[in-house]
Amino acid sequence: MQAASFTLTKFVNKIQGPPSFFSYLHPRPHFPRFKVTFAPNSLILSFTHSLIVTFTFLGTGTSQGVPIIGCSCEVCVSTDPRDQRLRTSLLVSHEGRNVVIDAGPDFRQQMLRAGVKRLDAVVLTHEHNDHIIGLDDVRPFNFLQDRHMPLYGTTSVLAEVKQRFAYIFAKNPYPGAPMIDPVEISKETPFEVAEIPFTPIEVMHGGLPVLGFRIGDFAYITDMKTISDAEKSKLDGVRTLVLNALHLEWHHSHLNLEEALDFIETIKPEQAWLTHISHRMGLQKLRSKQLPNGVGLAWDGMVVGQDGLFIG
Ligand SMILES: [Zn+2]
Ligand SMILES: [Zn+2]
Ligand SMILES: [Zn+2]
Repeated sequence: MQAASFTLTKFVNKIQGPPSFFSYLHPRPHFPRFKVTFAPNSLILSFTHSLIVTFTFLGTGTSQGVPIIGCSCEVCVSTDPRDQRLRTSLLVSHEGRNVVIDAGPDFRQQMLRAGVKRLDAVVLTHEHNDHIIGLDDVRPFNFLQDRHMPLYGTTSVLAEVKQRFAYIFAKNPYPGAPMIDPVEISKETPFEVAEIPFTPIEVMHGGLPVLGFRIGDFAYITDMKTISDAEKSKLDGVRTLVLNALHLEWHHSHLNLEEALDFIETIKPEQAWLTHISHRMGLQKLRSKQLPNGVGLAWDGMVVGQDGLFIG
C-alpha cells in the first residue's frame, strides 16, 4: 500500500500491440521500475520510479541546544560530535530539491553545514522560537532563487509568525527584507511540496497544537506530549518514526524517554529515531546502548532514507 502511494508513473511511450494484458513491477521499491501493459490495440510502456526522498537531521537538540551556554556537565563538555546538538530541524530532499521542516535559531548554520544551495520551502511544526526564529536567514535563498520563500504553517502559526516578524509582512518592507509567501495548511489536508507528499498529523505540545508530518513510510513528530486516536491512526504502517524525547524526567509538554519508548511500542515502526534531546538525556554513547533494538538517538548531520536506515 505505502509503496504504491509512493510511486510516480511517468508515461514514456505508447505503441500499437496485440490485445492482451500483462504488467511487471520491479519488486524492490528503491529501484527504478517499469510497467508494460498490453491493452486492446496498444502496448503501453510506462516507466515508474520510486520517489526517492532522503532526510537529513539538521538539528536534534532541545530549545537551548547542546551544549548549553555555561554548562559544564559531562554531555556539554563531551568531545563526541554526536553530543553537540543544534536546535531541532529536518531537511527533506528529493532530486536536488529541498524542503526544511522548521527554521530555528541555528537555521543559517544548518544550511551552511548541510551545503544547501537550493531551498524550495519551509514547513513549520509550530510557532515556538526554537522552530521559527531563524526565518530572517531565508534572504540568501530569496536572492539566489529570485523568488519568495513559501512558508507552510497552520493559520495560528502563520498569525504568530506575522506578529513576530512584522517587518517582513509590512505594507512596504525595507529593501532587502526577507520575502516570504505564507501558505496555510491544516491537519485535515495533505499537501505536496517539491513533489514530496506531506500528510499533517496533529499532536499536542501541552496545550499547543503542533503538526508532525508523514512522508510515505516515514513520519516526523517533534514537540509532542499527547496525540488523539484519530491522529495516531495516520501513523499506521509507518516504517520509520522520528519522535521527540527530551530526557528522563517528566515534562509538562514533551515526552520523556520512557513515554517516547512506550509510544514507539504502540506504533511498532521498523526503526525509530529520537530527537529534540536535552543534555540531561546523557551521553549519546552510553544512552544509545540502553535503547531497545530499532530505536536510536538521532544526531546532527545524520542522513536516512525512507526506510529509516542510515545513509550517511
Ligand atoms: Zn521545540
Ligand atoms: Zn549540560
Ligand atoms: Zn515547542
